[in-house]
Amino acid sequence: MDQVILDIKNVCFRWKNSGSLLLNLPEFKIEKHEHVFLQGPSGSGKSTLLGLVGGILVSESGTLKVLGQDIQNLSRSGRDSFRVDHIGFIFQLFNLLPYLSIEENVMLPLSFSSIRAKRAGRTKIDQFKEAKRLLKALALEEQLAKKSPVTELSVGQQQRVAAARALIGNPELIIADEPTSALDADLRHSFLELLFGECKKAGSTLLFVSHDSTLSDLFSRKISMDEINNNVN
Ligand code: ADP
Ligand code: MG
Repeated sequence: MDQVILDIKNVCFRWKNSGSLLLNLPEFKIEKHEHVFLQGPSGSGKSTLLGLVGGILVSESGTLKVLGQDIQNLSRSGRDSFRVDHIGFIFQLFNLLPYLSIEENVMLPLSFSSIRAKRAGRTKIDQFKEAKRLLKALALEEQLAKKSPVTELSVGQQQRVAAARALIGNPELIIADEPTSALDADLRHSFLELLFGECKKAGSTLLFVSHDSTLSDLFSRKISMDEINNNVN
């Protein structure tokens, strides 16, 4: 039987100061090695859902299991360490740190997760080599290494750094929140192929969220917010 990576049951969420439910999710499951494309218009609650899956937000009811662990039963710091150990996040705006080098940005999760550090390499040098390998595999040219990750890289290049940072140390679940929205069609396609290849190598499952369905054919499953969200507004 395939392992269930994400198992959501009866999860309801509303933002404080908003009377209405934004999310009412009777059931949503993702199994190991799936590449799931979750589509929904802007404002439909995709980023909020990813915040719940990552344990940044907590719902008002229901269970939300990641790798069998109900993360909503963990303390805030428990959720933070669970996230960095098991989930690689690629944000829409990448959140790269300008005062770190490209490789240091990629290696950042390893300073917060000993599990991922061990998987990335036995020594710091091995971990640095793994960061370089990922950057190369994601087609970031070597000569860029000395540049500042934020001010001197193009959007497409920053995205590759952010993806390498999410992938390093093989987290079980990769979550991507509209990471391709600023790219043109050719770049989006090639980026996704590289991302899929590295997810496969790492044994990671992928949950990819976007308002733009043109990429969905590349994924093993496509689902839309209105199929899983039963909120009645
Ligand atoms: P999507 O990612 O699909 O565009 P979001 O999850 O970002 O949607 O937003 C869904 C709804 O939740 C929107 O109406 C938005 O205004 C609201 N929302 C998002 N973030 C916050 C927040 N931090 N506080 C209050 N409301 C929020
Ligand atoms: Mg969003």
